[in-house]
Amino acid sequence: MFDIDAIRGDFPALIHHQQQEVVYLDSAATSQKPQCVIDAICDFYKNGNANVHRGAHRLSQLATKSYEEAREKAAKFINCQAKELVWTKGATEAINLVAYGLTHLLGKNDVILISELEHHANIVPWQQLAKRSGASLRAIPVDSDGIIHTEQALALIEEQKPKVLAISHASNALGNIQPVQTLIKAAKAHNAFTLVDGAQSLLHLRPDVKALDCDFFVFSAHKCLGPTGLGALYGRYQCLEALDVFQTGGEMVTKVSIKQTQFNPPPSKFETGTPNIAGVLGFSAAIDYLNGLESAQLREHELQLFTYLCEQLAQFSEVRILGDMDNNIGTISFVVGGEHPYDLATLMDMEGIALRHGHHCAQPLMSALGVNGTVRVSLAFYNNKADVDAFITALTNTLEMMA
Ligand code: PMP
Repeated sequence: MFDIDAIRGDFPALIHHQQQEVVYLDSAATSQKPQCVIDAICDFYKNGNANVHRGAHRLSQLATKSYEEAREKAAKFINCQAKELVWTKGATEAINLVAYGLTHLLGKNDVILISELEHHANIVPWQQLAKRSGASLRAIPVDSDGIIHTEQALALIEEQKPKVLAISHASNALGNIQPVQTLIKAAKAHNAFTLVDGAQSLLHLRPDVKALDCDFFVFSAHKCLGPTGLGALYGRYQCLEALDVFQTGGEMVTKVSIKQTQFNPPPSKFETGTPNIAGVLGFSAAIDYLNGLESAQLREHELQLFTYLCEQLAQFSEVRILGDMDNNIGTISFVVGGEHPYDLATLMDMEGIALRHGHHCAQPLMSALGVNGTVRVSLAFYNNKADVDAFITALTNTLEMMA
């Protein structure tokens, strides 16, 4: 049985230090962490601290074992093999790793295709790749509500025959779930490399990389109950092999002389320097936590809450809701007349509501929507109806104050 009160009790940050409940509606920025994740990180530093892949001593061996077991667990979570999962410091680094590693495979006749609603992390690394390789960067357009139309996107893929398709599974600014499987299939018909930015989908959609059939999938642990400073890249093994090395140094090598270096095979080829061991163990606990819950029930709860939120928000005639409400991870973005999103968010904070305002690192999307920014409410399974009610009351008060 899905017990929302018990679940909320697992997240200490939902009760702040003065014992008042926090109305946390900013999970798209970062999710809250259950106590077991916090404990796993503390436990490593208290009882198991040692470097991995080095040293014959017991602590190092144990740390290496737990670290590699966590890789296996994370790989299973997204349905790939452990050797196909590279730890990075986040989704941003993972996209940079791929964009850099593909440089030698692209030339001036090639097209890199993204979409207009990408996070800057899935735009700027491709711009840099285009500069380095001479390739062109193009974007699948969105309509005036920020929605990608599959037919239009497919036509663009047919026309451009991209060498790379890089697209988010779900928009961080609007919550829209993208038709990634259909687009990947079309791009693959032209032998494109395909990358899915799963930063927003991992927690809500439990992606299966084999079902998506993408070559690369990236995510950040902190958006899925884990700690900051950690993420991962899934790569189909032969695609990881095809990438050039990104950052270089110790650990990733089999042989170094002053003149040259032999690199390890993936995933080690991409993991140089001392990794975020405590972070990996924290994320491992996050996966255990999620595996202990029924994912369909979490999604059902999120969807019910999201529907309720949409219905409540639709009652405000001055509110313009953006994005695709029918196909959404549980994130809603809106603007109110000429009011500045910053003013709204600040007043809402005074009412105890934590939400996000601004361009959400998606400036091309904001331009396409004709707005400078939005106010964004993003839900996770640990939110409840009282959170939505508190938000609606605060919005009512705020709009009255602004009138
Ligand atoms: N892509 C999307 C869709 C995101 O929402 C984010 C984080 N807001 C990123 C990429 C970048 O993630 P990180 O900052 O954790 O590297």
